[in-house]
Amino acid sequence: MAKKKGLNTICTHTGEVEDTNYKGAVSPLYISTSYAYENVDIKRYPRYFNTPNQEGVCKKLAALEQTDDALIFGSGMAAISTSLLAFLRSGDHIVLQQSLYGGTYNLVAEFFDNYHISYSFTKGLTKENFESEIQENTKVIYIETPSNPLLAVTDIEMVVALAKKYNVVSVIDNTFASPVNQQPFILGIDVVLHSATKYLGGHSDILAGAVCANKEHIEKIFHVGKNLGGNLSDYTVWLLERSMKTLGIRVKAQNENAMLLANYLNEHKMVDHVYYPGLTTHPDHEIAKKQMKGFGGMLSFELNTDIDSVAFSEQLQLIKPSMSLAGVESTILSPAKTSHALLPEEERQKQGIVSNLLRLSAGIEDIEDLIADIEQAFKNTIK
Ligand code: PLP
Repeated sequence: MAKKKGLNTICTHTGEVEDTNYKGAVSPLYISTSYAYENVDIKRYPRYFNTPNQEGVCKKLAALEQTDDALIFGSGMAAISTSLLAFLRSGDHIVLQQSLYGGTYNLVAEFFDNYHISYSFTKGLTKENFESEIQENTKVIYIETPSNPLLAVTDIEMVVALAKKYNVVSVIDNTFASPVNQQPFILGIDVVLHSATKYLGGHSDILAGAVCANKEHIEKIFHVGKNLGGNLSDYTVWLLERSMKTLGIRVKAQNENAMLLANYLNEHKMVDHVYYPGLTTHPDHEIAKKQMKGFGGMLSFELNTDIDSVAFSEQLQLIKPSMSLAGVESTILSPAKTSHALLPEEERQKQGIVSNLLRLSAGIEDIEDLIADIEQAFKNTIK
């Protein structure tokens, strides 16, 4: 049975996925609207999440996250917005952790008022921080761990216990960890979300999203999703499936590079602070050790004032500036100028997203080449 297999085996052996005739990606044109194919199944239509490619990839995702089922979407934000709207209606309230991906923050802060859905962002990540925000009409607790961009780690079991106590749905954005490093459903989380644009895709060339959960929750999300229509094109499903075959070995290499880079930067005199949950000095290191199998490929660091972060990034030759992350090539970005630029300045400061903070996504290159690139960029940028 697929669920008992190791992660690499699930990723690689598509035909092993139980309970489906899926034997690998088929022509994306195999849908009910295509008259060119014989034996088309008239019940299949991409917006109903039921083409062979979608179903095959979803079985694989569910096996990776150890959930009953999964759905894939046209982007991480489509997966997030559709899932939240499946559990929230007018008059409801949601508690979200402080320090989230900027797009998720904007979705809530800019649009939820329009639908009379109220929200509270926690002031920190402790049990008290979460519990004090819960109201009578709270229906969802939403977390993201490790968080973007400061790699804060939320205690998943603590959130699960609160969600059970107050009978609310617990939702996690598991993008930064990937199912290789963290399987929140096993820890009791109800709904697991991914920007599949990131580790699941892994090559910085697709936009996709995913949600994994039990049958009942997936059914609710499916009904909202088929109406909102944020589905993934079957052409891209095929690319996602191909990428997922190497997920296990990619993430392992990225974990190793990130750990080595974090140690290197931590010792560097030009760096004031490194944020990486694998460092024993990280305030949430013990929680990370408890709930993660690997510490992930993402780290952030604050340069000291002798060095200009923009000039430093431009000086890098191998590590490229990029909005996205988690690809096989290492990339870097300034969160204050890009992913979190739309956040009000006051909110950014409150969260610690300062202007000389850089977020690095470790790729799978040789570590010597990455360190040599950073070293030359330091040498050529010092004022
Ligand atoms: N969640 C996290 C943690 C992200 O980093 C991102 C994008 O960067 C998203 C969600 C949104 O994903 P997408 O760009 O695929 O819509």
